[in-house]
Amino acid sequence: MCISQGFGVSAEGHLPCSGGEQQAATSALRKAKRCRALGCTVQDLGGSYCRKKRLCEAHMKADAIEAPECGPGMWRYCQQCGKLEQLHRFEGTKRSCRASLVKRKANADKAMYRQQRRQQQQQQQYAAQL
Ligand SMILES: [Zn+2]
Ligand SMILES: [Zn+2]
Repeated sequence: MCISQGFGVSAEGHLPCSGGEQQAATSALRKAKRCRALGCTVQDLGGSYCRKKRLCEAHMKADAIEAPECGPGMWRYCQQCGKLEQLHRFEGTKRSCRASLVKRKANADKAMYRQQRRQQQQQQQYAAQL
């Protein structure tokens, strides 16, 4: 008796890979370039500058806007810094924050100081020539 039986080499395990429906990640959330101001209804930001700053022209010029994206409170667009800044950083109805004005003044002072020094040096040179 020759019972040559294979070692049970059964061809099982050929289950089709279930769950082959890979959800294609096509849910790329297209971030619309919309104005950051709360409740703004402007759908399309006109100029490229507005697009870059994500503010419509009206809100860029507004005295105060709410921009939850930036944080709580009221915001104003600072022309010097080119960004939204909290309202308390501005003085009155100025469009430049205090910090930028201080910086600008410091630069002006520095320039004046340089000029004064140059004048002094010129005077000294002049005096030396005499
Ligand atoms: Zn707007
Ligand atoms: Zn500023």
